[in-house]
Amino acid sequence: MYEYTSSKSLFERAQQSIPGGVNSPVRAFKSVGGTPLFIEKAEGAYLYDADGNRYVDYIASWGPMILGHAYRPVIEAIKKQAEKSTSFGAPTALEVEMAELIRSMTPNIDQVRMVNSGTEACMSAIRLARGYTGKNKFIKFEGCYHGHADMFLVKAGSGVATFGIQEVPGVTKGASQDTLVAPYNDLEAVKQLVADHKNEIAAIIIEPVAGNMGCVLPEKGFLEGLRKVCTQENMVLILDEVMTGFRLAKGGAQEKLKIDADLVTYGKVIGAGLPVGAFAGRREIMQHISPVGNVYQAGTLSGNPLAMSAGMALLKELNAHPEHYSELEAKTTYLRTGLEKVLAGMGIDHKINHLGSMITVFFSKAPVTDFASAAAACGETFKKFFHGLLKRGVYLPPSAFESWFLNNALTYDDLDFTINAAAETCREIL
Ligand code: PLP
Repeated sequence: MYEYTSSKSLFERAQQSIPGGVNSPVRAFKSVGGTPLFIEKAEGAYLYDADGNRYVDYIASWGPMILGHAYRPVIEAIKKQAEKSTSFGAPTALEVEMAELIRSMTPNIDQVRMVNSGTEACMSAIRLARGYTGKNKFIKFEGCYHGHADMFLVKAGSGVATFGIQEVPGVTKGASQDTLVAPYNDLEAVKQLVADHKNEIAAIIIEPVAGNMGCVLPEKGFLEGLRKVCTQENMVLILDEVMTGFRLAKGGAQEKLKIDADLVTYGKVIGAGLPVGAFAGRREIMQHISPVGNVYQAGTLSGNPLAMSAGMALLKELNAHPEHYSELEAKTTYLRTGLEKVLAGMGIDHKINHLGSMITVFFSKAPVTDFASAAAACGETFKKFFHGLLKRGVYLPPSAFESWFLNNALTYDDLDFTINAAAETCREIL
């Protein structure tokens, strides 16, 4: 039986000095209950908490650790760069190399601007789309999450969905009045919004594979339909690849799903666990960014050498060894098959969505294709499933509205361990 004594006392202490004891809300285990684990260290596929308990990790720091924790080339690159100082606030060869590497790995990218988070990347991409088109409104999808900038916190996924927050206090009507929302996978709703707001819409922003309402896949023709509408109506198609970039394939969802973006946003894998984001795309659009154009965007630590060195060490490995992606896909399929067998064998209603190394188990009879169907899945069963796995040494995202991320340090023994833990849990909760 796992002991959580140290995590419990750290959580108590944390709540005195940090709101809710955490620096990002979903970490608090609020929707699943119980004490969040305070992590001491991690290696490969395993996390170790402050009580010394070991967990097979399916969060991977919410995506970045695609080859596992403390990946040696990343650690070495960070150490080597740290000796030369951590930031200069001036251009470096590393930034040039990073931009060139991203261009060489992904389609439709002529230019790249580095930032410090996925939020920054998405809010900058929207500003750029507005500056480029001269229009104000944009379309996002219910249950998608593009960071915590004001204009995105309308029917957002991730923590906003986890906590069921309908309206975020502090977001003014002015900030959100230009945000138009459509259900995921509903092309007709998008066409209707476009017709209702003729010549007012600058962009469509979408998670090409949604991960912030759990993993939800685009239906056949949906992304292609968005591409067509954007081209016809002079709107910028922004693919938010903060989760999917360098995870689904070298070239992200653009490559995996054969969909061409005008602008793309990145985060997570691109920084190998350091705070990084980027927005990138066609030269014609990127040239509107300051100092070439007047769409202003800046950052004290943007492109900092430590993050560039770490991110590049990871991206170079993925670039040189694309077999990581087929290995990850095979492992995810193996996990899915094993879990399906367990759940079906016990007669538990479920639907599993997966693509590449993103996967979610929904406790639902109906297929999950949008936020409404994700929200209709049974949250109570998820809570029990989560805690059953946790106490058996498997760490899932503490929310039903998040994708799980596999990392390639996971072995088939780890996957069997997980499937067995799921079987024991299901026997317990039935
Ligand atoms: N976009 C997507 C698809 C995300 O999943 C996230 C974070 O989870 C963001 C944007 C925001 O990124 P960050 O948390 O780095 O600001």
